[in-house]
Amino acid sequence: MSTISIVIPCYNEEESIGHFYTAIQTLQQQLPEVTMELIFIDDGSKDGTEQCLTALHARDNRVKYLSFSRNFGKEAAIFAGLRTATGDCVVVMDADLQHPPGAIIEMYHKWQEGYEVVEGIKINRGEESRVHRWFADGFYALLGKMMGIDMKNTSDYKLLDRKVVEVLGQLQERDTFFRALSYWVGFKSTTVHYEVGKRVAGKTKWSYFALLRYAIKNLIAFSFAPLYFITLVGGVIFLMGAGFGIDAVISYARGASAMGYPTLVFLLLLLTGGIMLSLGIVGIYIAKIYEQSKNRPQYIIRRRSE
Ligand code: UDP
Ligand code: MG
Repeated sequence: MSTISIVIPCYNEEESIGHFYTAIQTLQQQLPEVTMELIFIDDGSKDGTEQCLTALHARDNRVKYLSFSRNFGKEAAIFAGLRTATGDCVVVMDADLQHPPGAIIEMYHKWQEGYEVVEGIKINRGEESRVHRWFADGFYALLGKMMGIDMKNTSDYKLLDRKVVEVLGQLQERDTFFRALSYWVGFKSTTVHYEVGKRVAGKTKWSYFALLRYAIKNLIAFSFAPLYFITLVGGVIFLMGAGFGIDAVISYARGASAMGYPTLVFLLLLLTGGIMLSLGIVGIYIAKIYEQSKNRPQYIIRRRSE
């Protein structure tokens, strides 16, 4: 008999947890041969999430939970969950039922066939706005190209074999990007498609600003492309400058007038802007190195169920 651990990051999910638990009960009836272990991570919630989890744990010994000392973010919650899970395979999913639990049955069967990573791929995009979708598509197209994989419509909903969970749990990096790391580690993988549901209760924790930060952080964590890009742009500007120089000398020799003030202002703004932007990009990498070198933990656990 196999055990499936389900890792559920929760931030202010008091309204969702009950619905989630009920849905998992239904799933258990559909998979009677499986033992389930539910690992909820209370990511520093400010509402009654922890009380909900304590109550659930008292009622059902399959339920375990960790409480962080403050909000450390979903990535930290996922990794704390992976390190706690004991199952033969581990499913990571959201608490708000946007990841339909029914898909676990298909994931589980794929795992039984021998797959070690089963990626949940979104068929639709739920309630995402158009701007969000464009932004996400652009970001994943870029990242996917750099990593040589197709990341379109990927999500954090996946099933991982014990071996993969061990490997991920041993990673030392501060800024993990779960969605891409599950590809990066390799292993025998396949996909399962699912329809993104409506959030069962509560509301999303993502603002546009948070999404932008998430995108920049993950791009930096996974690639040096921004550094190559600014180097390339620098090179092109240098060549253009050389061209201008030659042109100016020729014009001067011919007695033609040099180019005027607007050109100067334009170039000055373009170049200082470019330099500041590049400095910023280099700065972000240095900041990340600094952060990693401090060796602070990715999360702090304040309390855990026994
Ligand atoms: N979440 C978390 N920590 C955070 C933000 C979100 O653990 O700082 C959890 C949240 O409780 C949910 C999942 O991550 O279970 C997905 O969050 P949400 O539904 O807000 O994101 P969306 O589905 O809108 O992308
Ligand atoms: Mg959600």
